[in-house]
Amino acid sequence: MNIEQQINQLREELRQHNYNYYVLDAAVISDYEFDMKLKTLQELEKKHPEFYDPNSPTLRVGGEVTKNFETVVHEHRMYSLDNSYSREDLLDWEKRIKKLVDGEINYTCELKYDGASISLTYEEGVLVRAVTRGDGIQGDNVTTNVKTINSVPLKLKGDFPSKFDIRGEIVLPYEGFAKMNQERIEAGEEPYANPRNTASGSLKLQDSSETAKRPLECLLYNITGDKIGITSQIESLEKARAWGFKVPSESKLVHSIDEVLSFVNYWDEHRHDLPYETDGIVIKVNDLQQQEELGFTAKAPRWAMAYKFKAEQASTILQEITYQVGRTGAITPVANLDPVLLAGTTVKRASLHNADQIEKLDIRVGDTVFVEKGGEIIPKIIGVDFQKRNQNSKPTLYITECPECNTPLIRKEGEAQHYCSNYKGCTPQIVGRIQHYISRKAMDIEGLGGETVTLLVNEGLITNYADLYELRKEQVVPLERMADKSADNLINGIQKSKEIPFERVLFALGIRYVGETVAKKLAKHYKSIQAIIEATEEDLVNVDEIGIKIAQSVREFFSVDENKELIGKLLGYGVQLEISAEKLANQTDTLQGQTFVVSGVFERVSRNELKKLIEDNGGKVSSSISSKTSFIVAGANMGPSKLEKANKLEISIISEDEFLSKIK
Ligand code: AMP
Ligand code: ZN
Repeated sequence: MNIEQQINQLREELRQHNYNYYVLDAAVISDYEFDMKLKTLQELEKKHPEFYDPNSPTLRVGGEVTKNFETVVHEHRMYSLDNSYSREDLLDWEKRIKKLVDGEINYTCELKYDGASISLTYEEGVLVRAVTRGDGIQGDNVTTNVKTINSVPLKLKGDFPSKFDIRGEIVLPYEGFAKMNQERIEAGEEPYANPRNTASGSLKLQDSSETAKRPLECLLYNITGDKIGITSQIESLEKARAWGFKVPSESKLVHSIDEVLSFVNYWDEHRHDLPYETDGIVIKVNDLQQQEELGFTAKAPRWAMAYKFKAEQASTILQEITYQVGRTGAITPVANLDPVLLAGTTVKRASLHNADQIEKLDIRVGDTVFVEKGGEIIPKIIGVDFQKRNQNSKPTLYITECPECNTPLIRKEGEAQHYCSNYKGCTPQIVGRIQHYISRKAMDIEGLGGETVTLLVNEGLITNYADLYELRKEQVVPLERMADKSADNLINGIQKSKEIPFERVLFALGIRYVGETVAKKLAKHYKSIQAIIEATEEDLVNVDEIGIKIAQSVREFFSVDENKELIGKLLGYGVQLEISAEKLANQTDTLQGQTFVVSGVFERVSRNELKKLIEDNGGKVSSSISSKTSFIVAGANMGPSKLEKANKLEISIISEDEFLSKIK
């Protein structure tokens, strides 16, 4: 056997063991043997890079880093589901669909897995793309992360169609979730709130080797594509299973709504025996021909219906109400509870939202309260068990002063939240603003984390984000857990942030209501901080998509002397407070009002440069061809489906050179 054959055989073997272990839950070799084989393969691959295969089992451990996830338009839209809550709802639904299709209707009942939905694209049996649901029309390309999930087959087995999408849910089973949290607690980190959000967060981690460490699973439930030769939903589940996907076996074919209900009732009671979270049942018309006739509403398929389990409740005792101060000074009351088991996790805290909520429910310390966990991260208190109330208890008095700095709280007309107005002196606000400034989407300062910010503030080394630029290494080194090298990294990271473009600096400033998108709009329109400082409320509202709330907040921010002072300092340190001259020089309105789709491979500029050129010259880039597309810039190997669509809609296709001469 030559080296290549040896490598391929090992890959095949490991793939099979992976499948046995993660999909079938039935390993046939020990972990040790598996690791040995993997190691052998790793060594061979290292010695023979010419046999590289992006789908090799050795690449499951991740390592690729994604800074920004590419947006991808779903070829087939990812719909949501309509909900039902009773037998009547289901009978109504059946009546509606019986009017639209002929013949007997059978249903498949499936569990509704509670995780993050994902669409996987396979071509010639190889995973080529994994995209999150996003808004259903377009999502994020998270392929590198999804490839690390062991139950996702990178190569299929058996008799699969040459191209199809398969949809499923990425979940974090309870056991793995509990283990992850245990490790976090031991490392002194906050535990994650729930498996679902952790699963969806895991897909968006930049470092795929981090995703690889999380015990995620991918459960599949729908095959989408043209000419895939399947006639029923139940068949598609079986087929998917045969190709190597993990498809839970609880799904069942039934023949009436009453049978649907017994399935619902059974799982309502037994769902906690499952290894992962579910939040209901999904009922689907089994026959795909009938599904096609039924089609979709604007939001959901007519042929499917979710039946939500009742949100679970538990009762426990309210020990204490504490108050948190956010970066904007907003106060959030938090209920501290006697720990109670709810929907599979232990609950110790619940959100109380604001003063009105506490008053409305008449919640008092010592009360027995009902907590409910719907889809939210933090459970909420939905009421008080008044029969158990202590006769002597007194109504809760909302705090009148900031728990951190004792400043009297204010509450503005029409706002639900109380605020601490001590902008300059209230520690959590100061820390919060700096933490926001350095965060990934803002200045993304490498080598500086949220906890270090707290330390720096507590040590009196900084009181605002401008102070960061004055920090010297010898001030930082004495800090707890700060090695010489980390101190260097921190200082370098801060210096490097001077290169961050204006739009992100604007976001980093922490002006209320100025999120990432608004910051981009303002930066593009005004081009410099000075112009924004000078803009009146009226000017601001006239900018596309800037409303009165944002305009007022911007004015308010720049009317504070300290903020103006801060801006002055940032300017002095060389932080980008205007669009760089280079960028400005390259900007024109030449392509104003035109929308471009870019397809294929280019010679003179990269795809990203091309997109940037379009935007810099006032044009819009879109990822899908529609009647709104003005031009398609086509390079080599433009996709055939795009070509077909372009021809159908009679959209002009131009070459790279033709495009470049347009903007010359
Ligand atoms: P909702 O988000 O409540 O509108 O429910 C729709 C979501 O349920 C879909 O986007 C899927 O991610 C998820 N889901 C979970 N299990 C299933 C299943 N067996 N069939 C279809 N969708 C499911
Ligand atoms: Zn305060």
